[in-house]
Amino acid sequence: MSADELSRLIDELKDVFVTDSRARAIAATPYLQPPPEAVKIHDCEKQGNKPAELSWTLSSSPNASFLGKPVKNSLVIHFTYPTQPDSGESDISWKSVAICKMYHLFYSTVNGKQLLRALADFPMGTYIDPEEMELSSEFRPPSIKQIEVTFEQTFVPNTDPNHGTSGETDAGEECIVPKERHTVWIRTQRDNPEAPGGLIWPGSSCEKNIKFFHRKGESRMAVLLFHELLHIWFVHRFGYLPAMSCMSGHGTDMLSCSYFDLVQIRDSGSNKLEDTYPLFDWLLKFFDEINTKEAKFEKYRNILK
Ligand SMILES: [Zn+2]
Repeated sequence: MSADELSRLIDELKDVFVTDSRARAIAATPYLQPPPEAVKIHDCEKQGNKPAELSWTLSSSPNASFLGKPVKNSLVIHFTYPTQPDSGESDISWKSVAICKMYHLFYSTVNGKQLLRALADFPMGTYIDPEEMELSSEFRPPSIKQIEVTFEQTFVPNTDPNHGTSGETDAGEECIVPKERHTVWIRTQRDNPEAPGGLIWPGSSCEKNIKFFHRKGESRMAVLLFHELLHIWFVHRFGYLPAMSCMSGHGTDMLSCSYFDLVQIRDSGSNKLEDTYPLFDWLLKFFDEINTKEAKFEKYRNILK
């Protein structure tokens, strides 16, 4: 490998392992250190049958406010490991490792951390226009205090017909609404090395869809987690608009070409209404980030062979 290639590789590694302090050590002494991903996998695999306690505790930004008043919030996102055996996959140990890897991968992404920050910051005042909303002056939307992420194989689907395969938010409820406590359910995912490159979500030939290439179990779970957390973000961000009642961010007919919920935002400069598809736009960014991370990891692993 040439010096240029090595230097490029190190730059990319810094990108991929942005939260891993080992990456900094590698950049400084590239020939002496073991690959950081190996360390990370080892950490997750070492725990075996004794899963680590996983959670994120987030404080709201110093400038978070609602109707001119400062907001102080603390959000805990807690992960519960599966305890029930399911059909043919009763091995809790691989699931613990997969969840651990997903947890670290998610937090290494820019968009993942931005989403967690946004969730901790509710309620934010900017999106609520009391005149438009016809809300009383005492009205105060709830902060999000807790999100429980659970991986049990049995769950009660909510009424969103697009759900019920691998991810779910506030299972068993009529629709997702702004409140202090939410639950997210994710089906644990194994690596899927045989998957054809370039799958499409949600599987339609319409213009608004998302191509993806990732195959690793933690990538697949991170995308599911982001998707479900994004629903919670969406209803807290837009759920007070009368026209948005019970909307989750994507429509109910996933095979039609209007399957993402439209939000019109008034541009403060021109005062014109602008069409946006917030759930689609952010999801697209996260898929892109996961694709890139997985591609870089594969490239690095091939070089080491
Ligand atoms: Zn969804």
